[in-house]
Amino acid sequence: MHATLPLMRHFGFPAIRRARLETLQVNLGYKCNQSCVHCHVNAGPNRTEMMSRETITDVLAFIDVAGVKKLDLTGGAPELNVHFRELVLRARELGVHVIDRCNLTILEEPGQEGLAEFLAAQRVEVIASLPCYLEDNVDRQRGKGVFAKSLRALARLNALGYAREGNGLELNLVYNPQGASLPPAQEPLEADYKRVLGERFGITFNHLFTLANMPIQRFGSTLVSKGQFNEYMALLHRSHRNENLAGVMCRSLISVDWQGDVYDCDFNQMLDLPLKLDGRERVHLSDLIGQELAGNPITVRDHCYGCTAGQGSSCGGALHD
Ligand code: SF4
Ligand code: SF4
Repeated sequence: MHATLPLMRHFGFPAIRRARLETLQVNLGYKCNQSCVHCHVNAGPNRTEMMSRETITDVLAFIDVAGVKKLDLTGGAPELNVHFRELVLRARELGVHVIDRCNLTILEEPGQEGLAEFLAAQRVEVIASLPCYLEDNVDRQRGKGVFAKSLRALARLNALGYAREGNGLELNLVYNPQGASLPPAQEPLEADYKRVLGERFGITFNHLFTLANMPIQRFGSTLVSKGQFNEYMALLHRSHRNENLAGVMCRSLISVDWQGDVYDCDFNQMLDLPLKLDGRERVHLSDLIGQELAGNPITVRDHCYGCTAGQGSSCGGALHD
């Protein structure tokens, strides 16, 4: 795989600083039952990195002391971590809103029986990738048969009450472009998804988040192989909008890797660009307990234009219309 960080041409992303911490995003491990083309984690069935119980204890201690309101669980497939359900239960006991970045197909994997029911019972928000409402496009990006399995999973979540008006069980979908282009406007695309998934398959969901592809890991490497890397970087840079800087997710979120090391966001984690604090090159979550992060400079590079290009892109979708 081509490393893309050395290829970034140093357009010089503007300096930004942290605001109040709201969300702890935790990567529970890189193992996944899928190997999607656009995966920015390079996750797959053969990855062995997994967060230990000891580090999960650090996560819970941090949440408790820092008063974090949201716990955002990612991977790989976060549910493949054997401590996943215990972490969710304990975080919910602390009154934290938990988000599961779920690939949907995991619900049908052996050993994951009862997962959908567990998520519903714990009132976990599910955020799931579905890069298109057309079978061919999804299967091309995420693997053969993924579309059909994803729809079965969505139907199951709906049957458990997800996306049913008034009951607060949130089910949100994520769209990312197939190629080296920016995502289309979020609102009309959400309306299209709702119409097609509703009419053809009887599926409902709350919101569609449109995310830009980051020029890193598997997607970045594919761009290099196709000779499109510089062109895509130029598109991101050209489309930068200063007003998006206030809403980039790294201002209110920290990302923790499977070993407990801390980054300003998940993308920086994948590029091994750690959060810098008090001159330290690397910070562990356990070192952050009781530390104030507001005002701390954020580590930025040119991939950050992926968050500020066009309508903007964050873990909660577009930043504006
Ligand atoms: S499901 Fe998600 S984590 Fe797994 S390979 Fe696909 S994009 Fe990566
Ligand atoms: S890539 Fe990460 S550090 Fe850069 S702007 Fe986006 S969220 Fe912030």
